[in-house]
Amino acid sequence: MSSLFTKIIQREIPASIIYEDENHIAFLDINPMEKWHTLVVPKKEYETIFDMPEWEFLELQKIVYKISKHYENILDCGINILQNNKTVAGQEVMHVHFHVIPRLEKKAFLNHDIWDTYSDREMQAYKEKLTFG
Ligand code: 5GP
Repeated sequence: MSSLFTKIIQREIPASIIYEDENHIAFLDINPMEKWHTLVVPKKEYETIFDMPEWEFLELQKIVYKISKHYENILDCGINILQNNKTVAGQEVMHVHFHVIPRLEKKAFLNHDIWDTYSDREMQAYKEKLTFG
């Protein structure tokens, strides 16, 4: 079955489309976190970014950059760029997308009050676990 976003791409569901090219589409989020909150979507239906070949992910990022830069120019504001992948990370629509969220008001977005801290030992252990390259 087609994803919700494929239905938008195929014009089966209406959306306010602000950008489209051969492989990508961008449209306004129906439940915006802030005004002009936009979703940038590859037309090919991948569930998560980890299903995409790296080059297609990079092409998608170029479009995200282009749209974010355009918004920054015309709205003169900061931009949050967000990508939820997998349900545990808050992904609800299983078709890859980036959120581009112009920040016009200084509303709390990520609540720093609830962020955690590390002990020195934990920090060292996590660094050892995660270091690569
Ligand atoms: P996720 O939580 O998967 O990262 O984000 C999915 C986004 O899709 C949500 O921000 C939600 O508001 C948006 N969304 C869900 N249904 C529709 C729809 O029918 N049209 C549009 N334009 N956006 C939608």
